[in-house]
Amino acid sequence: MTKRVYNFNPGPATLPLSILEKAQAELLNYNNTGMSVMEISHRSKEFEAIVSEAENRLKSLLQLNDDYRVLFLQGGATTQFSMIPMNYLKQGTQANYIVTGSFADKACKEAAFIGETHVAASSKDANHSYIPELTSLNLSDNPAYVHITSNNTIYGTQFKEFPEINNVPLIADMSSDLLCKPFDANKFALIYAGAQKNLGPSGVTIVIIRKDLIEASNKDLPSMLRYDIMAENNSLYNTPPSFSIYMVNLMLEWVIEQGGLIAMEKHNDEKASYIYQAIDSSSGFYKGHSQPEFRSTMNVTFTIANSELESKFIAEAAGKGLIGVKGHRSVGGMRTSIYNAMPKEGCLALAEFMAEFQKNNQ
Ligand code: PMP
Repeated sequence: MTKRVYNFNPGPATLPLSILEKAQAELLNYNNTGMSVMEISHRSKEFEAIVSEAENRLKSLLQLNDDYRVLFLQGGATTQFSMIPMNYLKQGTQANYIVTGSFADKACKEAAFIGETHVAASSKDANHSYIPELTSLNLSDNPAYVHITSNNTIYGTQFKEFPEINNVPLIADMSSDLLCKPFDANKFALIYAGAQKNLGPSGVTIVIIRKDLIEASNKDLPSMLRYDIMAENNSLYNTPPSFSIYMVNLMLEWVIEQGGLIAMEKHNDEKASYIYQAIDSSSGFYKGHSQPEFRSTMNVTFTIANSELESKFIAEAAGKGLIGVKGHRSVGGMRTSIYNAMPKEGCLALAEFMAEFQKNNQ
């Protein structure tokens, strides 16, 4: 059998070995049903228990009050780009976006199919290497909501604080950093995330939604696009991605066992610091893309000053079992994704490789 590698892919991403082993152990006979979790009915009491356990675990990790529901939907974070405006972007209002990267831009462009959009701030002028000043947002006259992307997977920047916008619903795409650290989730009207980075495998999208938004959702939409129908049916209106939800529930259990979000933050800060240190101590051999104060602890992006060395870096890293380090074409260079499940040892191995590569190639 091939040894497990350190997988720095941006998503689908690495999962904790203990979870994969647990899923493997339960695969043929889940909870004495004599069936795998993929084979049991989504209407069975066993599966209903998984969905409600996952909702409760996420609510407790985020310290959400009873005003919130957690939904497990399909269509990826990308479907939320349009489902949100379909539900909340009414005539005479504007959907406000803080455009800090490609996914924020995509979200804004999808909303433009539905109604009026407005860019309240953007970091496009510097290839999204920073997060704009949040105290001087240029909101539209009648904002339906303000949408942010808390972590910019491609550019490697991350919001370190969130905008204070009083009575306007704050909505966040947290696909690439939900559960990486504690934050005040009760400030948000709606948070969504595709699971395949920090929360489990692909196939399920987590939506954390405040009850007043469930009530205010648009009732003139097809059923699969209605938050109220999804909530009333506890995410079981139609057949859900049951195996993915089961895996998310195991991942939530793992985060709790690790010590919750405070422990996750410590773990992630330490991991990221190894790689940023390798960049900062390289005397310019490596160059970080993000301005230092906005650096993401989830996606570390950097280039090599001599860009001709980049393909060699990627190939040699792969030879050492460090997989998936190639950057997105809009930044170039490298992007190493180090979500919750990436062990400290993976980041140390990468930082050591970076120092060694520099020594051999400068
Ligand atoms: N938002 C962000 C921040 C992402 O990183 C991604 C995926 N890379 C998406 C949205 C799109 O997610 P999905 O593929 O689940 O639609």
